[in-house]
Amino acid sequence: MLNGKVAIVTGGSRGIGRAVSLALAKAGADVAIIYAGNKEAAEDTASAVRDEGQKALVIRADISQAADVDAAVKEVVSEFGRVDILVNNAGITRDNLILRMKEEDWDQVLNTNLKGVFFCTKAVTRPMMKQRGGRIINVSSVVGLVGNPGQANYTAAKAGVLGLTKTTAKELASRGITVNAVAPGFIETDMTAELGEDVREGMTSQIPLARLGKPEDIAHVVVFLASDQAGYITGQTLNVDGGMVTA
Ligand code: NAD
Repeated sequence: MLNGKVAIVTGGSRGIGRAVSLALAKAGADVAIIYAGNKEAAEDTASAVRDEGQKALVIRADISQAADVDAAVKEVVSEFGRVDILVNNAGITRDNLILRMKEEDWDQVLNTNLKGVFFCTKAVTRPMMKQRGGRIINVSSVVGLVGNPGQANYTAAKAGVLGLTKTTAKELASRGITVNAVAPGFIETDMTAELGEDVREGMTSQIPLARLGKPEDIAHVVVFLASDQAGYITGQTLNVDGGMVTA
């Protein structure tokens, strides 16, 4: 489905990003994995991509820093010659009730989860415009749609990503670039592993399909949105949440 395509996955070292990197590779894409801290985990994902017969590149970049992002995209274009797919997946949480939330926790989450998406989108736009085509897929969250106590920073950033998705979709459509968002519900990753068993049971009870999602549940949707089959879809948000949010 994606033979000959080159993908960039931010936060591709673990969790949803790792599953997305492997699914893109299985579909035939070469993958550049952008990671912030854990080189070993990023190399591990890269080696799994190579096991699928695809090329892999590991690049350290903090997506909240424009210079890091620009250098990373340049490296991908210089190594692979093009960039067809950007998956804006990297994200962090710094949860607290609004009364106790520190300004630095607000800034860190907004800088990574929203400004980072802006920097990465901006950086791939020029090469994608030259190629007259591309796919940008932003990983938001259903809590960006419905809110979640203790996550004012995170939900504001994830809601912002949805606005950014709609605007960039309209701006870039004439260049053959589609921009869509995936909004995961509760997914089994390191991000949710830290939560206690009672919290996880509480989450499961809210999910009509009665289980937490797997990273692969998100990855399959990302591959579809990256494919030619999704060529007439842009500016949309697809909730992948076991039926939790239906409006
Ligand atoms: P995770 O914590 O397992 O992985 C996040 C990845 O992002 C890591 O590889 C990390 O190194 C990278 N990262 C963090 N800050 C970075 C930075 N400044 N620069 C570059 N990379 C950075 O998280 P996950 O659960 O796999 O989540 C992936 C995405 O899905 C996130 O955007 C998250 O908000 C979103 N999401 C997750 C869930 C869930 O239940 N797990 C639900 C909804 C949305």
